[in-house]
Amino acid sequence: MTPKYCPYCSETRLEELQPTEVAIDNVIWTIYHYECQFCGEIFDRIVPEGELEWEAMDEDDIMESDDYGQGYQH
Ligand SMILES: [Zn+2]
Repeated sequence: MTPKYCPYCSETRLEELQPTEVAIDNVIWTIYHYECQFCGEIFDRIVPEGELEWEAMDEDDIMESDDYGQGYQH
């Protein structure tokens, strides 16, 4: 999932910045920000809910996550 190349200059010197999580229609989207260390461009990679590693979590773990629990029940 991690981009290997800058889409602007094709350099590989990318730094991952603090990701942002946004809730759209009760779906959590994680936006990863990458800054190219060569040309200075910043670009985003948006990961939708389906690509999160929910399989690694059982239901009890989800229920204990108060930050995500509101409006996110299946
Ligand atoms: Zn670049």
